[in-house]
Amino acid sequence: MTFPLIKHVRAFVVRGGGADYHDQGSGHWIDDHIATPMSRYPEYRQSRQSFGINVLGTLVVEIEAADGTVGFAVTTGGEPAAYIVEKHLARFLEGASVTDYEKIWDQMYFSTQFYGRKGLVVNALSGVDLALWDLLGKLRKEPVYQLLGGKVREELQFYATSSRPDLSKKLGFIGGKMPLHHGPAEGEEGLKKNIAELAEMRERVGDDFWLMLDCWMSLDLNYATRLAHEAHKHGLKWIEEALSPDDYWGYRDLKKNAPKGMLVTTGEHEATRWGFRMLLEMDCCDIIQPDVGWCGGITELIKISALADARGVMVIPHGSSVYSYHFVITRHNSPFAEFLMMAPDADKVVPMFNPLLLDEPVPVNGRLKLDDKPGFGVQLNPACKLHRPYTH
Ligand SMILES: [Mg+2]
Repeated sequence: MTFPLIKHVRAFVVRGGGADYHDQGSGHWIDDHIATPMSRYPEYRQSRQSFGINVLGTLVVEIEAADGTVGFAVTTGGEPAAYIVEKHLARFLEGASVTDYEKIWDQMYFSTQFYGRKGLVVNALSGVDLALWDLLGKLRKEPVYQLLGGKVREELQFYATSSRPDLSKKLGFIGGKMPLHHGPAEGEEGLKKNIAELAEMRERVGDDFWLMLDCWMSLDLNYATRLAHEAHKHGLKWIEEALSPDDYWGYRDLKKNAPKGMLVTTGEHEATRWGFRMLLEMDCCDIIQPDVGWCGGITELIKISALADARGVMVIPHGSSVYSYHFVITRHNSPFAEFLMMAPDADKVVPMFNPLLLDEPVPVNGRLKLDDKPGFGVQLNPACKLHRPYTH
């Protein structure tokens, strides 16, 4: 079977939700006094948008093959990522074979290593990699999960991330993860409020429903240790991303300090096999949470997941909708998945990348069966206005 060569790579930017799920209107639970590393500044405490969490917007990458078939993917990164894709990364794809994703990944990563390695550049690279997998699936007329080895279970099972685990329970999810609302700068009173919120939610959901806390890099080791021990009294299942992603030593110590039975999780802002190797070899956590749109794409997630599997560590990818689902269903060490509740009041299930994708599947009663549409099985919503800031 011969494949057409890659003809053209294009990068677009879109605003208002989509892959940049923090790019929401006012009054949304996802921007309501959530603890962050910027919470030490009172003026940036109430809203993450105030310090620029939504400054980048969504990146859309399209890859067109010589026969006119187009693969695409979305991630965060906006205009600067569009520049990197058009002016730097596109050269490694145009004229190359669609099947050569290993070589293309290697060239994208090492050609940008002098200014890349993590963050924005790897977001851009991930978007290209995911678009390439979408194109490969479309040309082979197979869903991406089939290219990855096939399903190891019939359906996905989800926990929900939102301010309202009690509503998520009613919607059939297996657990609920809440954002932490108060950081160390809010002192003992803030710590008490954090615990009171958890205790109240435990009252509402009963004993058996999973409850987790997402700390979004906002804590220090001492605070995180105290929070973990207080939260253990209310059956907290895991404490997520308590510390800076650069603080591997802190995570190592937090995992030692945490109460027996409580899981320490992190990795949504980590990237590549080398970053995750550090988390794994330093024994930093029980679950790694790579975001497939930020960690290096599917090509890199395969390697990250294999490293974790060999150490008995679960891989529960961060958000990222269909790009996660197609991977999670192919791996035994990814037994469930995350669903971000993007309704402003977290009271109903809406597609995670709403309104950017058509046919974006959502869990029903906390579960989802993937269909056999080729690639990632979604299309761009023509109602969303794409802007192409650069060409090459
Ligand atoms: Mg998180």
